[in-house]
Amino acid sequence: AKMRVGLLFGGCSGEHEVSIRSAQAIAKALSTGANADKYEVLPVHISKEGHWLMGEVAQQVLASGTPLQLATSDPAASLHSPASAAATLEAAQQSPLNRLPILKQAAAIDIWFPILHGPNGEDGTIQGLLQLMQVPFVGSGVLGSAMGMDKLAMKMAFAQAGLPQVKYVAVTRAEVWSNPCVFPKLCDRIEAELGYPCFVKPANLGSSVGISKVRSRDELEKALDSAASYDRRLIVEAGVTAREVECAVLGNDQAKASVVGEISFHSDFYDYETKYSAGQAELTIPADLPEQLTRQIQAMALQAFQAVDAAGISRVDFFYLEQTGEILINEINTMPGFTATSMYPMLWQASGVDFPELVDRLVQLGLERTAP
Ligand code: ADP
Ligand code: MG
Ligand code: MG
Repeated sequence: AKMRVGLLFGGCSGEHEVSIRSAQAIAKALSTGANADKYEVLPVHISKEGHWLMGEVAQQVLASGTPLQLATSDPAASLHSPASAAATLEAAQQSPLNRLPILKQAAAIDIWFPILHGPNGEDGTIQGLLQLMQVPFVGSGVLGSAMGMDKLAMKMAFAQAGLPQVKYVAVTRAEVWSNPCVFPKLCDRIEAELGYPCFVKPANLGSSVGISKVRSRDELEKALDSAASYDRRLIVEAGVTAREVECAVLGNDQAKASVVGEISFHSDFYDYETKYSAGQAELTIPADLPEQLTRQIQAMALQAFQAVDAAGISRVDFFYLEQTGEILINEINTMPGFTATSMYPMLWQASGVDFPELVDRLVQLGLERTAP
């Protein structure tokens, strides 16, 4: 019998659309060539509102690539989606908390592939649910996912592993919002410790959502206020002028690192628009780097993978300061973008693992990790 892969995609996150595109590519890879004889794909869609949808509706979202839109005021009349009227109504009636019926329907699934990016998906929440359900799944478990999502926790793990990184200041929402006496002191401290430019980020997000590059006190104050609306935990980092290079990791306890790739772009930094608009960023694979630096980056990627207890898949991102020759780790992404033109699969392609084989390996690694 074929193995049934529950492809979980969409999600309550700013990276909903990216997830749909990643899921399309993975579904295609699982239903072509040798994979078609091995796997059957069961798409499970999580709408932006948090509704879980299986069957025809999920198939349609996957086929059309369009997010499901429910006009919550009048669910019966809302049909801005590819879904049928009945399915839309059913979805609207499902409370986000009332997910058990669908999870029972999903009992036939042999392994889950949570191709969800950002909060409520890449952060350990879904992984905890799947772990409780005692079904194997692709990628990192609860700890690795949570550590990889929270930039403060991630940096503590990296520091402990001796990985060099940019200087940063940890900030809480309370410091930004609660006390008018605390805020100016916080800004003074950031200016003294980091200077300008610096980067203000919500700790738990991805795709550059909520991130600002700031060059003055005024911009710093606004950026902190804005980032605080995304997350209770914030981080401010010293800005570096550097090349951005990335390395893909595949495996569990004996994980391997791919060739190194580079991202170049003309915008001020690698923001959301640059990431997801066609033609705004260029990938160079392999990156034009001295052999010894490439090896250093690969070793650091594997160390980072272990430091946060990642499993199966991760993309580790670095800053290369050409003038000093320093490599600083920026972050790990435990469920990186996975479209046919995304960095992660392209790095493996260049390392001799093509897209369908990569997806097959990830499913097998998920089974291996959760084997009794
Ligand atoms: P995300 O998890 O959303 O991708 P990142 O921390 O990778 O967040 O930041 C997104 C982008 O912002 C980076 O790819 C880089 O272009 C820029 N950036 C972030 N931090 C710094 C920094 N400290 N110095 C220079 N550029 C940075
Ligand atoms: Mg990230
Ligand atoms: Mg990033």
